[in-house]
Amino acid sequence: MPDGDMILRNRTKMAILRCDLHKPKVRKNKRYIFVADPVTYPDSQFLCGHQGCNGPGRVWLNIVDALMYRDENQRTFRLQAPKRVTVQEGGHFEPELTDQ
Ligand SMILES: [Zn+2]
Repeated sequence: MPDGDMILRNRTKMAILRCDLHKPKVRKNKRYIFVADPVTYPDSQFLCGHQGCNGPGRVWLNIVDALMYRDENQRTFRLQAPKRVTVQEGGHFEPELTDQ
């Protein structure tokens, strides 16, 4: 079990997205220690946060969020910016806003 000190050091409630090729680096404080998949994974609009990668991202949680997941059944988490999104074909200029 993580101790209270570890929880205090990881108070920022931000999850990150990483694909399997770009898992979070293991740092001294092991900030991201728990992984769960977006509900639409791997057909997901949530992409890996590694620069230049468009692989499907898994959600990596810090200890606070991991405990919320396990103990409180929390399933929605804030993501660390910047976020990216992939859009469908058929985008258009909004006629009311553009002179034609
Ligand atoms: Zn990646």
